[in-house]
Amino acid sequence: MCNPPMPLSPPLAALDPLRIYDVLILGGGNAGLCAAIAARQAGASVLVLEQAPRSLRGGNSRHARNFRVMHDAPSEYLHAVYRRNEYWNDLAQVRGGNVDEGIARVLITESARVIPWMTDCGARFERPQSGVLTASRKTAFLLGGGKALLNAYYRTAQRLGIGILYGTEALSLRIKDHVAREITVSTHGHAQTVRAKTVVVASGSFQANVGWLKRYWGEAADHFSIRGTVYANGRVLANLLDQGAASIGNPATCHMVAVDGRAPKYDGGIVTRVGCMPFGIVVDRNGRRFYDEGANIGPSRYSLWGQLVARSPGQVAYAVSDAKAAGLFRPSIYPPIQARTIAELARRFAVDADTLVETVRTFNQAAGPVLAGGAAPSACRTEGITPPKTRWALRIDTPPFTGYPLRPGVTFSYLGVKVDERARVLMTDGRPAANVFASGSIMAANVIGQGYLAGIGMTIGTVFGRIAGREAARYAGY
Ligand SMILES: Cc1cc2nc3c(=O)[nH]c(=O)nc-3n(C[C@H](O)[C@H](O)[C@H](O)COP(=O)(O)OP(=O)(O)OC[C@H]3O[C@@H](n4cnc5c(N)ncnc54)[C@H](O)[C@@H]3O)c2cc1C
Repeated sequence: MCNPPMPLSPPLAALDPLRIYDVLILGGGNAGLCAAIAARQAGASVLVLEQAPRSLRGGNSRHARNFRVMHDAPSEYLHAVYRRNEYWNDLAQVRGGNVDEGIARVLITESARVIPWMTDCGARFERPQSGVLTASRKTAFLLGGGKALLNAYYRTAQRLGIGILYGTEALSLRIKDHVAREITVSTHGHAQTVRAKTVVVASGSFQANVGWLKRYWGEAADHFSIRGTVYANGRVLANLLDQGAASIGNPATCHMVAVDGRAPKYDGGIVTRVGCMPFGIVVDRNGRRFYDEGANIGPSRYSLWGQLVARSPGQVAYAVSDAKAAGLFRPSIYPPIQARTIAELARRFAVDADTLVETVRTFNQAAGPVLAGGAAPSACRTEGITPPKTRWALRIDTPPFTGYPLRPGVTFSYLGVKVDERARVLMTDGRPAANVFASGSIMAANVIGQGYLAGIGMTIGTVFGRIAGREAARYAGY
């Protein structure tokens, strides 16, 4: 499957201005590599341009862990079944907005075929009973995470003779009469023009571009962490939209989760996520509660709190719990801040101590006694305070008291280009750009315009990467 159908050409070490490449791939993350390998398997010559240096190649895909795939029978990596209708219903519940049902159907159908192709290309998955992560019926977990996957894909790409240029940013495509004629790129600051029969855009969305985020979020965007690559600056996306590509998705919304306030500005990844909110209280920078911490105790609590913290004063909040919460949630990579008293914890957060002490006292009065009436903790709720805590309302009274500072961590933005079922970029007149294809985050809003389903981002990149690669090769004559 991954054996090349034609003799290998040597990896390209530098841009050849006289050469016309069959398929030029902009972006070397999951979507770009899947497109590159698929195009090469079809026989085309392929060059991948990756803006990052080799050590940071692979964009947000490096941080991913799982894939959501339809399956009608248990397999080595997935137990039970996850049928088309269930996948469809899960997606229908979250996707919102102006999504394309035809594209979503393609995604679900083709998702059933990705794992054998991926393993042929070097991907490895955890077996359900042996992994460190909870086995899931709906998603397969990568062994070694996204970084291992990307390393395997890059090895396969090299073996197939796909050229890869690191440190090379695509600046603009010149589209005329629905055909991309040439592409301007910058290699280590040196601008050049490249010609190709076809282009696959797989450069992600714009979530790392703080200036762009500020158009919708104002100065608040300065306080966001970007969970993934710094290279998602949206330059290619903006260039396509400027030239009349049809957009899809709401640029003013982002997927975000609550992350540890000590996380780096970029690339903190999955380990900075904080999930302790249901097991204590959350206060703003003034030391006051502002939302029902029991409202969502499931996996989507992470994104709920990302949005809430993004709208809080200073885009910061503090999660406070006590010794009873220990072991109930996966901790962030940073140790919790601990103190023997609430006042001391407040001082360590730089929150007004009197206010936080009063907030905890009021909360404890409204919370039932510990495990009142033998009720499960999840059934305990407060009485007589606003906002209420509708589940897990246990008093915060057992030292050591612990806390995490919280910030919004942006995963991706929802703005993208519209595509058809062959992954061709559609222009505002409804016609496709004949030789421009898109895959991954840059077109994900065709499937999911708001909300999120775990594992769907990587599946979108793999399914539409393969389609884009095959279609680009076909257009180039293979
Ligand atoms: C912390 C975290 C955890 C995640 N976990 C999961 C998960 O478990 N499962 C899941 O399905 N999804 C997950 N996601 C989402 C998933 O990572 C994305 O959906 C997926 O990586 C998108 O792939 P992509 O190839 O489109 O983008 P990317 O992987 O970001 O790749 C884009 C590439 O393009 C390059 N680039 C950008 N601009 C240019 C340019 N102008 N010229 C050349 N190159 C350029 C970048 O350097 C980058 O390498 C996670 C995201 C994050 C941040």
